Amino acid sequence: MKVAIIGGGLAGSLLAVYMARRNYEVHIFEKRPDSRKVGYEGGRSINLALSHRGIRALEDLGVADEILPLAIRMRGRMIHDLQGRQTFLPYGKDENEYINSISRGGLNEALMNIAERYPKVKFYFECPCLDIDFEQNIVYFKDFNFQADVIFATDGAGSIVRQKMVERGFCKDNTDFLAHGYKELEIPARSNGEFLLDKHSLHIWARDSFMLIALPNLNGSFTVTLFLQNEGEESFATLNTPYKARQFFQKYFPDALALMPDFEVDFFRNPVGLLGTLKSYPWKAHKTLLLGDAAHAIVPFYGQGMNASFEDCYLLDKLIDEYNQEWEQIFEVYQKQRKKDTDAIADLALENFIEMRDKVNDEDFQRMRKLEYF
Ligand code: FAD
Repeated sequence: MKVAIIGGGLAGSLLAVYMARRNYEVHIFEKRPDSRKVGYEGGRSINLALSHRGIRALEDLGVADEILPLAIRMRGRMIHDLQGRQTFLPYGKDENEYINSISRGGLNEALMNIAERYPKVKFYFECPCLDIDFEQNIVYFKDFNFQADVIFATDGAGSIVRQKMVERGFCKDNTDFLAHGYKELEIPARSNGEFLLDKHSLHIWARDSFMLIALPNLNGSFTVTLFLQNEGEESFATLNTPYKARQFFQKYFPDALALMPDFEVDFFRNPVGLLGTLKSYPWKAHKTLLLGDAAHAIVPFYGQGMNASFEDCYLLDKLIDEYNQEWEQIFEVYQKQRKKDTDAIADLALENFIEMRDKVNDEDFQRMRKLEYF
């Protein structure tokens, strides 16, 4: 049984482990170079919140004990107001309810290493898929073709495979872009490696129509993300000089700014990322299936994109047993079962943007959260 996986990102590398566990021959084709040799290419969030859906898949594969030590527990939200006061809103009733901040690159590389422990797994780097013959299960690359029995497309929100499915009438898709974009900044560690803010919190500076968040990294730093309108009076478009960017931060995030010695350098080096909700359907074309962001990319405010992608792999794996490797039937059942849930998480993610950037400041909301949990 020969499996082709297009895209060796988070979903692709996890799926590779699932397929390898079945003793299949697994070939993963990744557009980028091997980050374990050349360093992880940025461009997306540096760290992510890993929670129950994602952990369930890692546990199912027996690798959670290896992955979770790479993460830092975040037990609640730390709300920073304009005066620099901090209010902690726990995620749950006790210490055992938390989400995990984990490095994207570290997680991806750990999953690739785990997949490669299986002898029939092979990664091909700098190998972008160009096209697929869906009827014949052939994947096309620049210099060669690959004949597979079954093909999984985990090539992310801009999936070329989905694009080809749409062109050939197998799938319809639509992306709604937000008026907000994001930019990453950094709060470094103290010189002795200590954290400058509470390390067990997801920090939020909510300012109604925009916000700043910070997630801890193992090295004592925080990855800080500014979510802001792309256009308008106070927007990425108008923060176009170091002076204007500093003034804006001084006005809205003075306590965070004081912790960012390389603020201007980071602000003008790091790009503004787009945010959008991608919905597509159907996800199957004969024996090719879209999974993860390639099928359903969502805005990051619920911290569920990767988690939902891991859940895709978990659920698919269960159906392979149930339908005895009848791939077209498995894909049909999978997409029918899964679509409503991924649509729901997409809507919740959009709703949570309003809660994070606005409602968390409300005293009634804060009181309610605390009463709910204590
Ligand atoms: P990707 O991670 O995008 O991987 C796709 C892979 O395919 C890449 O390696 C790419 O190089 C490769 N590729 C692309 N085209 C080709 C091609 N033609 N041929 C071969 N390979 C190709 N999710 C969470 O769960 N928690 C969070 O806290 C969270 N925070 C986020 C913050 C931000 C700012 C953003 C933007 C996203 C966040 N997400 C979060 C979402 C998460 O990043 C995605 O849901 C997740 O990366 C999806 O994994 P994937 O493998 O489907 O796609």
